[in-house]
Amino acid sequence: MPVGEKEANMSGKLYAALLDLLFPQKCIFCRKVLRGHESGLCVECAQALPRPDPLATQGGAYSVCAASLCYSDKVKRAIHRYKFGGRANYAKTFGAIMADTIEKELKGRYDIITWVPISAARKRARGYDQSMLLAYTIALELQDVAVETLRKTVHNEPQSNLSGAALRRKNVEGVYEVVDPALVKGKRILLVDDIMTTGSTLSECASALLGAGATEVVCAVLARPDTGSGRIFKN
Ligand SMILES: [Zn+2]
Repeated sequence: MPVGEKEANMSGKLYAALLDLLFPQKCIFCRKVLRGHESGLCVECAQALPRPDPLATQGGAYSVCAASLCYSDKVKRAIHRYKFGGRANYAKTFGAIMADTIEKELKGRYDIITWVPISAARKRARGYDQSMLLAYTIALELQDVAVETLRKTVHNEPQSNLSGAALRRKNVEGVYEVVDPALVKGKRILLVDDIMTTGSTLSECASALLGAGATEVVCAVLARPDTGSGRIFKN
């Protein structure tokens, strides 16, 4: 290695070490400082995070939805920091956890990876589309690509502000459109989102994709509420 390059490499390493000292990497769930062999999350969280049982449940317009985590306690707080606290870097760890679930539950069941988009106005306010980042990191983990297939045409009220399946269903009705129908025609789609509550958003997106000629839609979400073992969500 040329001297200049070697020096640059060493100063890069020094800089990284200094950054670690000043801003130690913390577990995205419990916020404990990570040890050298840990990345993104600590060993304790990796072993004890709440997992839904079963991971995959049947859907309405979509065939199946696989959730990686239960939307409770530290998972809920971590997702809030990710969505509302500017922690876009959490996508790396969340995406890796989701990729693992997808390999177990949905391997071989899709041709295209895509995501549930947020509106342009919300993306401007937040600075990033959280489900798009998840889809990108999942694709990287699985040595695949994620493609944009849907657009949100209406800046509606956040689903989290509404309670009850009927209100949530009404709120998302007709707000998604397929960007390029030729892209999804005859394809099996893996649709990625952050949280599933009643499944209204996933169903609405799946209906739009199926309406444009997709043959099947399977979903993967980071978390869903834990409603007890074995409960199957219906839309
Ligand atoms: Zn932890």
